[in-house]
Amino acid sequence: MPGLEHGLIQSPINILTKSVEQVDSRTITVRYKDEVNAVANLGHTIQLHFAEGSTISAHGKTFQFKQMHFHTPSEHQLDGMTYPMEMHIVNAAEDKENGRIEYLVASILFKMGEENKFISDFREFIPEETHSIQNIQSGRVRLSDLLMVARKNKSEEGLYFYKGSLTTPPYTESVNWYIDKHIYEASPEQIHTIKKIEGHNARKVQKIHDRIIEGS
Ligand SMILES: [Zn+2]
Repeated sequence: MPGLEHGLIQSPINILTKSVEQVDSRTITVRYKDEVNAVANLGHTIQLHFAEGSTISAHGKTFQFKQMHFHTPSEHQLDGMTYPMEMHIVNAAEDKENGRIEYLVASILFKMGEENKFISDFREFIPEETHSIQNIQSGRVRLSDLLMVARKNKSEEGLYFYKGSLTTPPYTESVNWYIDKHIYEASPEQIHTIKKIEGHNARKVQKIHDRIIEGS
């Protein structure tokens, strides 16, 4: 397709956990504002924002936080399993050498379970009208409420890492994907609420080709 990059490192993928290459833990430094200050209903997804100036650093590069959004169902699969929801935390940095934007996307998978505090905190602010944005008062919605969950066992610690692409046009192949091994919980009702707005917005899984998926 002209104008689109359709190469050998497309996303999402199905991660076969048995074939993941074990590596030492990766250092990711998160400097997020934590407080979510706006939620947008874009029709095809629900998107959350922080105030300017949130960054995340990995492999010697600092990425600026851009936005986070949801997919229903999940785009990534683990051992062929699709989860009911996935959240993408999108960060970007200028890649001057290649004249493009390099991304770091952190992915969080959700299963049906207990009500999730983070989702219930922003839910009331989701605008009913599509393509509209609602500001959120400071301190009402905190990302740390989502991320600071206890890992029950070793297998839930760490991340999967691989090089891939954006999952929406133009499918640019400059994404460092970090997928949290911990599967988060949200209530069926919460997932349904988000799905009702977004509809099905997951790209189908792409071929891995000769990529190595790392796990820490
Ligand atoms: Zn996404």
